[in-house]
Amino acid sequence: MTQRGAVLVTGGGGYIGAHCCKALHEAGYLPVAFDDFSTGHRSFVKWGPAVEGNVQDPKSLEAVFRTQDFVAVMHFAAASAVGESVVDPHKYYTNNVGGTLTLLRAMRDAGCQNLIFSSTGAVYGNASSEPIAEGAIKSPINPYGRSKLMIEDILADYRTAYGLRSFCFRYFNASGADSSGEIGEDRDPETHLIPRAIMALQGEVGDFAIFGNDYPTPDGTAIRDYIHVSDLAAAHVMGAGLLASGHGGGIYNLGTGAGYSVKDVLSAIFRETGLTMPLVYRPRRAGDPPMLIADPSAARRDLGFKPSHSSLDAIIATAWRWHRSIAKHR
Ligand code: UDP
Repeated sequence: MTQRGAVLVTGGGGYIGAHCCKALHEAGYLPVAFDDFSTGHRSFVKWGPAVEGNVQDPKSLEAVFRTQDFVAVMHFAAASAVGESVVDPHKYYTNNVGGTLTLLRAMRDAGCQNLIFSSTGAVYGNASSEPIAEGAIKSPINPYGRSKLMIEDILADYRTAYGLRSFCFRYFNASGADSSGEIGEDRDPETHLIPRAIMALQGEVGDFAIFGNDYPTPDGTAIRDYIHVSDLAAAHVMGAGLLASGHGGGIYNLGTGAGYSVKDVLSAIFRETGLTMPLVYRPRRAGDPPMLIADPSAARRDLGFKPSHSSLDAIIATAWRWHRSIAKHR
């Protein structure tokens, strides 16, 4: 079923990109996964063609745009580890900002005017109040967040100058896995809380620790808003349909509005898995704000988007299913 047209998915072999490819396929689109497979996985590309290429390479982008008349582009290809961005900012500005500029050039040349951009709650930095609405002050505290905010600004200028329509979706903490257990988080090294904690319980991570227990939060550990990756995928498919039918796009938070501390998440993981481990504390990780909770009301009001898979228990249950399934194949 590809009656709704082709969508180019940069980073289609990655965690969120692959979930979007599956959701696009189920909605009747042809997802074309464009990935350099440096961190993405060929085995995650199951719902359309895989095209190997890097978004910083104009030639491979031109070539992929010649293969299809894309109704939209979903742009996930980016470096995305907050801690790494602090120690290697060059990687973040070249991959994320440079790669997006090259992609935008190729889109203009191909006459594709519809983009869904993978932004982040990290654009807000240390928010002065929670939950955070889209109009809050944007003051990212790490190069990852700054690179994404720069791209949002670039997209606003391209909208004015060239008529590019875009959705910027500011994800809070993408988490969980497809309920089938066939795709999920698989990075090397893994830096994110939920997969690291599960892998520690499975004996695959030996140095798991809680980064910081001196935050100004009720239990001293940092608070985040976890949204299920399948809900993110649903929002992207909705965005593609809206842009294709002439919607102008916009900037929206994608979160749940509920915040959980690192300790809350660990308790939920221990409950779901029936396993446990001693809590070890280390100092705060550079670049981590104490709290990030979305005000999700604008996406609900304007787009009718409401997460339906994002209870903490559902997130942990699907992540656990995925990690058990990959452990079997290791
Ligand atoms: N975290 C932790 N131990 C880990 C990984 C993460 O305590 O091994 C904390 C991290 O400091 C942050 C929260 O868990 O407060 C979520 O981190 P993650 O890397 O999953 O997402 P981020 O919010 O950085 O995008």
